[in-house]
Amino acid sequence: MVSYKELGLVNTVELVKKAVKGGYAIPAYNFNNMEQLQAIVQACVETKSPVILQVSAGARKYANQTMLRYMAQGAVEYAKELGFNVPIVLHLDHGDSFELCKNCIETGFSSVMIDGSSLPYEENVALTKKVVEFAHSQKDYVTVEGELGVLAGVEDDVSAEHSHYTQPQEVQDFVKKTGVDSLAISIGTSHGRMKFKPEQCTKTADGVLIPPPLRFDILEEIEKRLPGFPIVLHGSSSVPIEYVKIIEKFGGKLSDSVGIPEEQLRKAAKSAVCKINIDSDGRLAMTAMIRKVFSEKPDEFDPRKYLGPARDELKKLYMHKNLEVLGSAGKA
Ligand SMILES: [Zn+2]
Repeated sequence: MVSYKELGLVNTVELVKKAVKGGYAIPAYNFNNMEQLQAIVQACVETKSPVILQVSAGARKYANQTMLRYMAQGAVEYAKELGFNVPIVLHLDHGDSFELCKNCIETGFSSVMIDGSSLPYEENVALTKKVVEFAHSQKDYVTVEGELGVLAGVEDDVSAEHSHYTQPQEVQDFVKKTGVDSLAISIGTSHGRMKFKPEQCTKTADGVLIPPPLRFDILEEIEKRLPGFPIVLHGSSSVPIEYVKIIEKFGGKLSDSVGIPEEQLRKAAKSAVCKINIDSDGRLAMTAMIRKVFSEKPDEFDPRKYLGPARDELKKLYMHKNLEVLGSAGKA
């Protein structure tokens, strides 16, 4: 048994309370390796932003859960060394079973998501409630995120072909019965770099896809029913066209890439949305820089010489998100 407090981590209780009140969202960035984690910590220290470090099923498979937990502990120490002790949460992204959530809670995670959104409603309630009861009964309270509604797209092991918007009439009952600390909802965001099919989008004169807007009417309806309750948006990368262009210029192929425009996320962050998950944009930033190095310096074979620029670009991207999109800069 390791408690997250021993690792210097925090749960999300105070962070989301402040975020809802302050009209901003806390970044939830996924990490799988050292360079990503360094970029996240550097960006959040420099912008003085709280941060949620997310571990997905894919990350656990790739990097090993124990490794990731020690890396999160390292992130806490690294932030201190950089000169600013930003609050850091270690969060399980898309937990799919009670056993997995329990295991993470017992090994130092300060927050978990139990994603029962693909189950029938009553089963989602029962599973989520079971995780909440376990998480909240720990010596150090672990926070739990539940989900209602299904996001389309592919993210590691989570995939769905069609989305279902969250039904506002279910949210009060779900929160009351399960006791969750926050709720992920589906209002049109989507996992991955192809968030919409081209036929769902309009096109600019130079062929850039413009996605349909998020369903702010559903968000407002949910806020009315759960005043001040912390809401989470998954699949909220913007898929910057600059990165797609660099990747394609240097030999990649990412047809039909489309994300959520930043001004819509900025609008969401001002509402009860207090946690915004961004993963694909980081993947694009790193890939763009690595491809550029490989193409411009074909004789380069030192991993530090291509992972380094990738890390620098990722840091720049995350600083931009904290400052310009989520509004979390200066809130640590
Ligand atoms: Zn997600």
